[in-house]
Amino acid sequence: MDRPLQRCIVCGEERTVGIAIWDQFICHPCEQEMVKTDVQDEKYPFFIKQMRRIWLKENA
Ligand SMILES: [Zn+2]
Repeated sequence: MDRPLQRCIVCGEERTVGIAIWDQFICHPCEQEMVKTDVQDEKYPFFIKQMRRIWLKENA
């Protein structure tokens, strides 16, 4: 079974492997980044911003 390409909302790359959060897709590498990213990490606000964008869209 072929998995469709989906555009990752974090990095914008089209990939087949990743997770779906609400209706959105986060690719596996980004998911791994998020899991290991510490709250103190400078990348953390970026992830939160991306996640919030999904959330706001879902609740608009
Ligand atoms: Zn990604």
